[in-house]
Amino acid sequence: TVPIALENCAKTFADGTRALEAVNLEIAAGETVVLLGPSGCGKTTTLRLIAGLEQPDVGGRVRFGADDVTALPIEKRNVGMVFQSYALFPNMTVAENIAYGLRLRRQSTAEQRARVGEMLALMRIERLAERSIDQLSGGQRQRVALARALAVQPRVLLLDEPLTALDAKLRDVLRFEIDSLLRELGITAIYVTHDQAEAMALGDRIVVMDHGRIAQVGAPREIYQQPASRYVAEFIGTMNRLSGHADGEVFHCAGGYVAWPALPAGAQEILFRPEDTRIAADGEAATLHGTVGAAFFCGNHVRLFVEVGEAQPLVLETPARREYRRGEPVALAVETHGLMVL
Ligand code: ADP
Ligand code: MG
Repeated sequence: TVPIALENCAKTFADGTRALEAVNLEIAAGETVVLLGPSGCGKTTTLRLIAGLEQPDVGGRVRFGADDVTALPIEKRNVGMVFQSYALFPNMTVAENIAYGLRLRRQSTAEQRARVGEMLALMRIERLAERSIDQLSGGQRQRVALARALAVQPRVLLLDEPLTALDAKLRDVLRFEIDSLLRELGITAIYVTHDQAEAMALGDRIVVMDHGRIAQVGAPREIYQQPASRYVAEFIGTMNRLSGHADGEVFHCAGGYVAWPALPAGAQEILFRPEDTRIAADGEAATLHGTVGAAFFCGNHVRLFVEVGEAQPLVLETPARREYRRGEPVALAVETHGLMVL
């Protein structure tokens, strides 16, 4: 397992599509880095450059540790790959699928059998060894795909939206399993997703991408709490936004004002997360007033959309014990520690 470096990796496809601007990125040995961004932003292209399935434009380099692998084809890079669509061989059993890479490397039958056994145990799918692929559920297929990718002891594990095709519950279970697995193996892993919750759960660091560029790199908390741009702020979670003007420590806006000792002079917009927005307690000095635009009962809480006269309603979550009616007036308070200006 090795550190990975992308140096000036741009990618222009034959039809002229500019999929990546010159990307620079270093990934430490053993680290899990998540590439996050909307469809078409260049995540898969970045992963394919690392795998050796694509070549960067002239001047781009890919390094695995001290080795320059830019010119090496995929079969010489020793990478393990798992895709959204399982890409397993349907005419082989589970055990044969897992052994595939070992056979290509001309390992002895005994070595293959031992390694396949280890992988079946690691993924807890021993009882599926002799099944054919079409007898497996989606979750079982992804476990087999992971076992096959890891069987060859790759230097790096590349995962491209491996959970996207699965239903929500199973996604949750497998996310947990993949997280434990990556930590246990200590392997360098690059995980592609468009799902911000998945990115935050799995990544040691998240690389937020936007139109072929890196918008921000950082630990999940850092990206969430200190987004570098509005694009990042709004891609990761929900962001409330109020436009207005600063007057000393007071920001005046539609619906009222927000008092903030650290308010930058000249601020024309403030941002804050739903969890820093709440219904003012009885007797508390509320500074924002609006009306309920929608209230979604979510079981353990209510997700409230409050109209204060901005284009977008403010979003907050509040305990479900009280019911809210559309059009009902509500008074809000904002926690100043969560306020941002970008
Ligand atoms: P993501 O994985 O983030 O959805 P991709 O890396 O697949 O994005 O694609 C980035 C951009 O490159 C998109 O505009 C896509 O249409 C384009 N693209 C990807 N592969 C090719 C290709 N082989 N030829 C031309 N354009 C491509
Ligand atoms: Mg993709």
